[in-house]
Order: sequence, then structure tokens, then C-alpha cells
Amino acid sequence: MSTDFDHIVIGAGISGLGAAHFSARRGLSTLVLESSDRIGGCLNSQHFETLGGFWTEAGGHTCFNSYGNLLSILDDLGLTDRVQPKVKVGYSLWKNGKRRSILSALHVLEAARSIPRIFREPKAGRGVVDYYGTVLGQRNYRDLLRHAFQAVICQPADDYPAEVLFRRKPRRKEVIKAFTFAEGLSTIPDAIAAQSSIEVRTEQRVSAIEPDGEGFRIRVENAGAIRCAALTLAVPPDAATALLPKSFETAREAIAGIGMAEIETLVLIFRTGDLELKPLAGLIAVDDAFYSAVSRDFLPDENYRGFAFHFRPGVLCREAQVARACAVLGVKPERVAAQSLVYNRLPALRRGHTDLVQRLDVALSGKRLGVTGNWFFGVSVEDALTRSRAESDRLFGV
Ligand SMILES: Cc1cc2nc3c(=O)[nH]c(=O)nc-3n(C[C@H](O)[C@H](O)[C@H](O)COP(=O)(O)OP(=O)(O)OC[C@H]3O[C@@H](n4cnc5c(N)ncnc54)[C@H](O)[C@@H]3O)c2cc1C
Repeated sequence: MSTDFDHIVIGAGISGLGAAHFSARRGLSTLVLESSDRIGGCLNSQHFETLGGFWTEAGGHTCFNSYGNLLSILDDLGLTDRVQPKVKVGYSLWKNGKRRSILSALHVLEAARSIPRIFREPKAGRGVVDYYGTVLGQRNYRDLLRHAFQAVICQPADDYPAEVLFRRKPRRKEVIKAFTFAEGLSTIPDAIAAQSSIEVRTEQRVSAIEPDGEGFRIRVENAGAIRCAALTLAVPPDAATALLPKSFETAREAIAGIGMAEIETLVLIFRTGDLELKPLAGLIAVDDAFYSAVSRDFLPDENYRGFAFHFRPGVLCREAQVARACAVLGVKPERVAAQSLVYNRLPALRRGHTDLVQRLDVALSGKRLGVTGNWFFGVSVEDALTRSRAESDRLFGV
């Protein structure tokens, strides 16, 4: 069959760009189609040109030396030596209008009594409230862990599958433990996409996929069709469900029920002198309109400080969000030097998710279609790339 590309990837988040990197390294002609006007998806370092290019992360902010698949890509791109260490600053709780230490919410005796259960309690098939309420105690879960988990996944956490949070991964000890880049984590998608072996097209919304001989015909809105021998979907589960062709009905049924959490991320920048607040990594909110706030203090700048407040959707209007964030930071809204609003989306996984993935994998077996994303092993950059690597090996051989 004559095709336009050996491999087309739909979605230019880190999952899709990782999938493209792995196939391009195999010498396959690779095209990435992205519906929005920018690449990177949830990796989104917001640069403010009016403030000398100062940036703050609106999405993912930290990578670790346990991210083996990511590090292999950074090695390929010559980026491993350019990682920047993060200054150690701590998280606090934001509760009842005050900053408090995390330890203030810990019930030490309950934790000491419960923790031995961690060696015998199975994680698989259990929700976060069930598992962590058992191994650290119900009061610790209610007063601390629930809010800490919500802060990480930016959505209600109780029914989230326990086994996809905090999986142990081997560390590359010669690399800094927690890192970013001088220009933020968008350096990673930008560098992958800049390779001459990968073509990336933005503002290309895929409207339909049709099987075409042994390959696929991809229909792009307001553009023609493109043919490929192999295809990888690297989009959120709702988009993947909508795009899977009719002949993949069993695959579609397996993932059709997976929900998405919407997050309204408000990025605020201040002149350093306008804030009295001591440097901090971020805030874990307890029952507030926002789940968490993450600062840029891990890479200090002499002129500016930046914060990303991850708000629950539809609770506060933009003006009220700015007012709430400023009240939390102890600064007047007039002092905001720059701001932006970013809509983030993360998968809302539920107990039993692993079974859905198994059903999907059975349905995909033997097909030239891969499905990847941050909704397989977990939500981190490395979880996404672990799936992209596995799908690449399945489609093109190890
Ligand atoms: C606030 C926040 C903080 C985080 N912090 C961290 C962290 O510190 N460390 C960490 O490891 N992880 C973190 N994560 C998680 C991690 O950043 C994400 O899970 C990961 O970047 C998701 O990558 P992805 O490619 O799977 O999905 P996405 O980034 O969502 O990319 C999917 C892409 O597909 C595109 N798309 C959708 N539909 C179509 C279509 N029909 N046609 C073409 N394109 C389409 C979208 O526009 C998007 O660009 C964080 C996430 C968030 C939101």
C-alpha cells in the first residue's frame, strides 16, 4: 500500500511526542497532528514577554531521576546535562484562611498504629480513600491525605485507583533527583518536535479515522485526508473514544466510560518586592475553590515570582479567582504584573480502571493502531511515556 507516512500520531502532548520520537528513532517517517495552536498539552511553561520572558508552569512542573523513559529521550536529544536542580522549598496547607504546616494535620498516633498495615494491605482494585484510609488511618485521610491527593491530581480523589498513584521506579542516581529546565518543562516537547525526523502540524483537528487496506486514512477538518501504515492515538480518553473507527468497537466500548476532570489554572506573576510571602513550593488547599497552588520559587528569579492556582471548574469567575489567589498570597490584586488562564484536563480514573485497560489491550492486539496517554499506568510524564514506549514496541517491534 502506498502511504503518506509510516506512522501518524494524533495529539502533541508528551505522550504523542514520545510516541513520535520512538518511531522516528526507528527510521520511520512520522507525522504528529495536533488540534490546538501549540504543542506540549499539559506541559505548558507560560512565558511573559512583557516581563523579560519570565515563565511559570501552568501544568507539569517537576520531573524526577526515576523517569527512565523520559531520561532516555533527553539522552537522545543531548538535554540530560542541561537539567536544572530545583531549590528545596516546602509545601504548606491552606486551611480556614491560613497557611499551616503539613504536619499540623497529621494524627501521629493514628499513623503509627496504622502504618504496619502497609505491608499486608493490597492496593490493587481499591480506591484511594479505602487504601490510604486503612494504611494511614481514617482521620489522617480525612484531614490530610484527601487534600494532598486532590492537590496532585486536581480533582476529587476518593475513588481514584490507589495502584496508579506513587508507583516505585528505579532511579538514575547520576541525574539530579527533581529537575526542570532553565526555560521550563516546555523545553522537552519543543526539543522533541524540533527534530528534522518528525513533522508536527498544529491546528489540525482530526475528525475521522478510516481503515484503509492494512493502514489508515486520517481525515483532518478543513483539510484533505492523509494515509499512514500505523497510527497512534495520544489524546484524552473521550477524544480517543470519539475517534476510534467502527471496526474498533470493542476497544471503544472498553474506554467509553472514562471521565475527564476540568481544571481552571490561573497563572499570576508579581514583582518580587510586592510580596512579603516567604518562598514556598506551593499550597495544598483544604476545602477551597482551588485544589492547589504551585509556585515558581523552585527556580528563583530576582525580579519576579509566579504562581499557578488550580481552580475547581465553574466555582469562581476570573475576577473572583484573582481576588482569592491574591488574598491567599497576602497581596492586593492591583499588584498583579501579568496573568493568564489555562484550561487543563486530566483523566478522572476510577476503581477497576486496570480491567478497562486490559480489555482495550486485548481489542488492540494484532492491530496497527496504538493508544497512549496519561490514563494507563498513571498521570505523570513518565507514566505517559511508559505507555508510549510499550505501544511503540508493540507496533514496530522491540
Ligand atoms: C496542573 C498539572 C500539574 C502536573 N504536574 C506534574 C508534574 O509535576 N510532574 C509530572 O510528571 N506530571 C505532572 N502532571 C501530569 C502531566 O503533565 C500530564 O499527565 C502529561 O503531560 C499529559 O500528557 P499527554 O500527552 O498524555 O496528554 P495531554 O498533555 O493532555 O496532550 C493531549 C494532546 O492531544 C490534543 N488533542 C486532543 N484531541 C485532539 C484531536 N481530536 N486531534 C488532534 N489533537 C488532539 C490536545 O490538544 C493535547 O495537546 C501535571 C498535570 C497538570 C494538569
